[in-house]
Amino acid sequence: MRYRILGSTGLSVSVIGFGASPLGNVFSPVPQAGDDALVGRAVDAGINFFDVSPYYGDGLAEERLGTALVPHRRNVVLATKCGRNGSDRFDFSAKGITASLETSLRRLRTDAVDLIQAHDIEFGDIDQVIHETIPALWELKRQGKARYVGITGYWPGLLARVAAEAPVDTVLNYCHWNLFSNDMDEALCPAAARLGIGLINASPLHMGILGGVKLPEWHPAPPAVRAAGAEVVGFCRSSGVDPATLSMWTCLQHPSVASTLMGFASAGQVDSACAALDFDPDAEVLQTVQRQVSPVYNTSWPQGRPENEDTKRAMAGLEEDEIKVAKA
Ligand code: NAD
Repeated sequence: MRYRILGSTGLSVSVIGFGASPLGNVFSPVPQAGDDALVGRAVDAGINFFDVSPYYGDGLAEERLGTALVPHRRNVVLATKCGRNGSDRFDFSAKGITASLETSLRRLRTDAVDLIQAHDIEFGDIDQVIHETIPALWELKRQGKARYVGITGYWPGLLARVAAEAPVDTVLNYCHWNLFSNDMDEALCPAAARLGIGLINASPLHMGILGGVKLPEWHPAPPAVRAAGAEVVGFCRSSGVDPATLSMWTCLQHPSVASTLMGFASAGQVDSACAALDFDPDAEVLQTVQRQVSPVYNTSWPQGRPENEDTKRAMAGLEEDEIKVAKA
């Protein structure tokens, strides 16, 4: 494993991080009996950064991860979130997030988390996020219930704007720097570098598209993006390349991301990701994959409050049938 320092926190995190959303059964059912082996395999591989949220399976992912991490808790960096409680249930109030962290600590079987993040801020009232939510996160830090504070979300530009207005230790962005996109580099990476913020990238498989299995109903990517993903998976498999390894390898090339979070449902998936550490992709395979994704490169989908400017721009760029899928 390789490690990087997470911004100004000083925390040393593995470049491959453990995304625990699959433990909430959000993609498909994951047998609980395998949790200890799955987390154990990740720890054995040197993964020390774990990310979860109360939103993943309505607390289930936190329960499962917390239980499996009991023997490892002192040796890992544990991040959870607050503010998002369901697909359309949000509470970014100081009272709400304070209560949320208390519940998370119980589920995670720990006295404090290393990182508490406001989850999917594009669904919040941005004034409230800046003036109430983030100050409340700092209060939780002052109380010793979290060591560091962060924000997460879909739109890199929005994350950069909020981080410039309210101090945070970390920013987590997803689906904006992987085989399908690189627009995290436009506003967010320069802002993070300027502000000394730790940068976390998530969803190297574009939320499972490059895993090559049936996607859940809620998946927001437009049909053209899914089709390009299926083409990439087919081509990789016929070329003897694991698309998950190639995807993680791509993300590991980013110079300033501290950790890339992949969602894991099995020990084999941990192995696929870790194979990226000494992967050496064939140049022709890489070029073909880049050609396959080029028609949909940097495609976004509506995400967040409808009055949010970034969401409006994404809607304007989508065809009517794509918007229906993205809204579903
Ligand atoms: P991902 O791109 O990591 O894909 C995960 C899916 O791919 C899961 O279904 C997993 O079982 C499957 N998968 C993993 N390895 C595979 C392999 N080798 N072969 C086939 N399938 C494989 O997407 P993600 O889970 O959305 O993102 C990773 C993590 O990042 C999340 O678990 C979460 O911790 C974090 N995240 C946070 C936010 C946020 O805070 N707003 C958003 C997205 C992701």
